[in-house]
Amino acid sequence: MRWLHRCPSCGAAYAIEPGRYLCDACGAGNAAGHPLEGVLECVWEGDGGEARRIAEAGGVPLPVEGKYFPPLPVGGTPLWEPDRLREALDAPNLFLKDDTCEPSGSYKDRASWLVAAFARKHGIREIALASTGNAASSMSCVGAAAGLKITVFLPAAAPAAKRIQVLQYGAELREVQGTYDQAFDESLAYSAATGVLSRNTAYNPLTIEGKKTASFEIARQLAASFSAARGKTRGGRGQAAPSAAVAFRAPDHVFVPTGDGVIIAGVIKGFEDLAALGLVDRVPTFWAAQAEGSSAIARALETGRFEPRPSATIADSISVDVPRNGAFALAKLKKHGGRGVIVNDTEILSAQRTLSSTSGLFAEPSSACAFAGYLKAKPSIGREETVVVMLTGSGLKDIKSAALAVGARL
Ligand SMILES: *Cc1c(COP(=O)(O)O)cnc(C)c1O
Repeated sequence: MRWLHRCPSCGAAYAIEPGRYLCDACGAGNAAGHPLEGVLECVWEGDGGEARRIAEAGGVPLPVEGKYFPPLPVGGTPLWEPDRLREALDAPNLFLKDDTCEPSGSYKDRASWLVAAFARKHGIREIALASTGNAASSMSCVGAAAGLKITVFLPAAAPAAKRIQVLQYGAELREVQGTYDQAFDESLAYSAATGVLSRNTAYNPLTIEGKKTASFEIARQLAASFSAARGKTRGGRGQAAPSAAVAFRAPDHVFVPTGDGVIIAGVIKGFEDLAALGLVDRVPTFWAAQAEGSSAIARALETGRFEPRPSATIADSISVDVPRNGAFALAKLKKHGGRGVIVNDTEILSAQRTLSSTSGLFAEPSSACAFAGYLKAKPSIGREETVVVMLTGSGLKDIKSAALAVGARL
């Protein structure tokens, strides 16, 4: 199966090869303090026959062959059917996609895994990146399994657990006395000077492509859940009928915690792929859930413009001054009628506790933001509609915020 990079703005095509990140024309005028322009998209060539076969066999079509993926279990995470939460909210078709149980404890592993596979395919020995914390701990984790040298640029204020993970996994830690945005620029300078592969989010197109994998899982898991439920009402054993091909089903709504806008763009891309292959009938309504103190994408959905502001929220993973993938994510959201929902830190901490105590799923503040966003948007969603809330990081990654939410001392 042949793949290439395509610029969604001008349509230019590029080989997927080391050193290729942005479109030469559209990415030439990038300036600090603005979302990246010229971010490339991974596309397959041809009619998608092979992509369809891969999806129907239970896999995900990706631009790196399976044999290069490092030996650790990434993806394939559970879709919860939280009965107590459903009852409390009178929301019978609410689902929770649980990526807190990824190897490093966050959704970032999906992107790190693909970037590591790409490095292995091309004989690359070192990867560098900037991070608010989770991308760093994730790349370090996957790098440890893959035998790659990982250099991370991390703001000194990152939560301790994420910093300690980096050190445990044996990566090289460069602490930046400044914001994530400064770390981003420093890591790009390092990659440019050394030629080391960059896993900077949005900048490396594979970070978006790697994050589409959950869409394929959700569509399969939903189909299985609904077919099992039908079995139950017919007096069956609640088991899905065995069928040759895997069935797919799109939810009505997906809530995604959003900072740089890579996860949401990736998950939308996954549903675009599924729709293009004729496996689902539509792309769901996507909700970019953002914290009041870091809401550039939700605001741009309203105004059409990005207005960078210094970020301030307890949800560190979605705290960005400039959403690096903002332009790409905004285009995807607009194309499919996506929405924004903004919640404050008090709502985030309250939602975190509700989620933990009513479902048993303990997620970090960024993910609680997605659930808080759902609670806020719920009045505009029909009772029977199918809703997936994406929970992207483990609550254990930021105990300081979680302690605040329950009024406990550390
Ligand atoms: C990075 C991250 C996000 C936000 O993803 P973006 O691509 O920056 O929008 C959400 N949740 C967790 C746990 C993360 O680590």
